[in-house]
Amino acid sequence: MSHVFVVDSDKQPLSPVHPGRARLLLKAGKAAVYRRAPFTLILKKPVEEPRPAPLRLKIDPGARTTGLALVDDASGQVIWAAELTHRGAEIKKALDKRRAMRRGRRSRQTRYRTSRFDNRRRRTGWLPPLHLSRVHNILTWVSRITRIAHVTALSQELVRFDLQQLEQPEIAGVQYQHGTLFGCEVREYLLEKWQRRCSYCGAHNRPLQIEHIVARARGGTARVSNLCLACEPCNTKKGTQVLKDFLAHDPERLARVLAQAKASLKDATAVNVTRWELFRRLQASGLPLETGSGGRTKYNRRVRSLPKTHWLGAACVGESTPEPLSTEGVVPLLITATGRGRRKMCNTNALGFPTGHRKRRRRYFGFQTGDQVRAVVPEGFAAVGTHVGRVMVRATGHFDLTTTQGRVSGVPHRFCHPIGRNDGYRYQRGTPHAADPTLPSA
Ligand SMILES: [Zn+2]
Repeated sequence: MSHVFVVDSDKQPLSPVHPGRARLLLKAGKAAVYRRAPFTLILKKPVEEPRPAPLRLKIDPGARTTGLALVDDASGQVIWAAELTHRGAEIKKALDKRRAMRRGRRSRQTRYRTSRFDNRRRRTGWLPPLHLSRVHNILTWVSRITRIAHVTALSQELVRFDLQQLEQPEIAGVQYQHGTLFGCEVREYLLEKWQRRCSYCGAHNRPLQIEHIVARARGGTARVSNLCLACEPCNTKKGTQVLKDFLAHDPERLARVLAQAKASLKDATAVNVTRWELFRRLQASGLPLETGSGGRTKYNRRVRSLPKTHWLGAACVGESTPEPLSTEGVVPLLITATGRGRRKMCNTNALGFPTGHRKRRRRYFGFQTGDQVRAVVPEGFAAVGTHVGRVMVRATGHFDLTTTQGRVSGVPHRFCHPIGRNDGYRYQRGTPHAADPTLPSA
């Protein structure tokens, strides 16, 4: 069950409570709503509560979506979960647009500007804005959760596979195919090494099997250097043939497969800059930080027969994952990063021609663009009805509302009531245990 966060009257975190208990607290007038997303209550009077139970916040960073899970290690209960969608592509697009706009100035008839192309220096550890935004999104949520829950430890998935695990010597039989921790590490390693493609035909987005380059029947070993990935047709077609005969028609590919197979373990370790940067910054937070590999996450998930979703992935990160993991009834909060507006002061039309200048003010009549509001507009106004959505403020006091049904214009500010302030994110209720079809089936 997804729990409700509770803070005391000094805004110090208490143990999250069952939604039923939260309802009672609200009904009895003992608590008020402190935040809507994630749903948090604040107690009205100071109470003598026992020390809250320690919780672990687990993070599975992804390129598009990051899984977050708050787990009680002692009881194995998932207290709260979320899926955080980043806005990498939008940032890239916005920066490309700005670059194009600035480039346009060069050819315009304006006063002479000296060329500026080699007078910039990037500080060490610089990350492209789209990657840095992911790190910032995650750090924001770690700090938000630690403010409303008693988080005493963090877990982060850091690498796809664990090199130390791989360096284990020979393994017996088909052990690596049957979901042992070692098998999961091998699979992740091979996926990385062979770029998630069939080594023989280059097919991707297809289930891949672990394949022995020198067939087992010919004395091939189960060493990782003798393993590659093949789609089912290729695997069946090759059978026990010698690689040289099998790829006789394509000497170029043969050479590539042989070279790739020989490549050292360390070459295949694609260093994920974003994850390491996140690791460094989480370490700086001072909380004990546990790291796990993608192979370990997959193994933990498979052993507990949980479906593949971002938040369940997060709950399975690391060695500390409790043996029975109770996920029943957990509804993940879907968080989407929206940004906090632009710095651009000059509005332009489609051709980049300036059409107006933005006002310095952001807040009108107590509202700011992006706030969640509920508007009950009485008869006699064009926008009659009850609308709930994000507001776009105007200096005239007649706001626009973006609702799930579409856009409503001309809503007078005096009928608007704030539900949630623009905090750079949009929220939605997820469905429990719904598998994400966009994930590669690896
Ligand atoms: Zn193939």
